[in-house]
Amino acid sequence: MVQPKKLKRRSVVAIATSVTLGSAGLVQFTDSEEENEPDEGSTDTFTLLEGTEHETTGYVTLAEEAGPTVMLVGGIHGNEPAGWKAANRIVHWDIGAGTLVGIPESNPTAIEAGTRRGADGKDLNRQFPTNEDPQTELAQAIWEVVEMYEPDVLIDLHESTGIYAGDPVDGVGQAIFHSGESEASAAAERAIDHVNDHYIEDPELEFMEGGFTGPESSPEGLLVHKVSRETDAMAFLVETLRTDIELETRIQWQSVVVQQLTTDWWAVDESVVDLDDVDDQDLSDTEPDDDDDEDDKPEDEEPPTARIQTDPENADETTLELEQTVELDASDSAPGSTEIETYEWDVSNEGSFDDAGSTLEVKITACGEFPVKLRVTNANGLSDTEEIVLSTD
Ligand SMILES: [Zn+2]
Repeated sequence: MVQPKKLKRRSVVAIATSVTLGSAGLVQFTDSEEENEPDEGSTDTFTLLEGTEHETTGYVTLAEEAGPTVMLVGGIHGNEPAGWKAANRIVHWDIGAGTLVGIPESNPTAIEAGTRRGADGKDLNRQFPTNEDPQTELAQAIWEVVEMYEPDVLIDLHESTGIYAGDPVDGVGQAIFHSGESEASAAAERAIDHVNDHYIEDPELEFMEGGFTGPESSPEGLLVHKVSRETDAMAFLVETLRTDIELETRIQWQSVVVQQLTTDWWAVDESVVDLDDVDDQDLSDTEPDDDDDEDDKPEDEEPPTARIQTDPENADETTLELEQTVELDASDSAPGSTEIETYEWDVSNEGSFDDAGSTLEVKITACGEFPVKLRVTNANGLSDTEEIVLSTD
């Protein structure tokens, strides 16, 4: 059970006021009467980047009971409609406890165009570098909302053209990626079990769980990573498969995942994921643009770096003796994102790697120059080579 870091019920007014007065003012509270705080049990709105092409609406719902603050983000990518269509519904849910802060259509020009990128040409989910300022005005405005409400939980809704199934190379759909807290893992597992048991018929479409990769892995600049690394919040990246699946079904999957992730405190009845009241227009007005698809999940594809060390040290910079033995050692090679599986050597200068092993002993039996090439290959099949030249007079 998530405990709120602090009581948010009293802090909303003060935080909202200070942002409006003291910051760049990228987020404006339109309903700034005497009390900015919405009435308990009601939903209030605010506006991001008012008067610009990126103008979009945020929603704040304050439950009567105290509880954690959940921030819900949809529409960071405009060609992933189930995420923002689900978010547009979820921000109106009647939550049982805590605060729901939602920005359903985070990237309105991308949504309007049905493309991954918005009018600024930027991939919004690459504009949140860790320990640096967000890189675009829109990213800054979204980050202001994070700083304003200090969510305990952030949920970002996306879609992918492929299925994750443990391997991001094929896509990241049908998965919930989450930050490292055991509580986040437990919530993700519960949501996955529930949606798989009750909403998935084809085993190939079953949801899977994935963790966040470290700061050194690409791609960088994801909102969920920045939130997870710089704040105390748990973060979830929800991905549905958007090819060959009815939009209505994907919206339902997104909705039930959020309903399950939050069920400990929201206690929202599962009937909210029923889509009977969605009109046809809402389900048919977006034709996603696939030209520009990338995956949101950090790719496990860092290549290794081959490195040759020698005994005697720096043998390639000295003139060796005839009959001298040199030990070649590749064990200092960097593995990249997975472990190195093979070390191969080409010591014949014929372009074939005929010897294997992390170390190799060679003997200089003639005068001249002898190129030695190392190839390391990691478990992802990515490889790197390094060459040194041993020489005698
Ligand atoms: Zn996305």
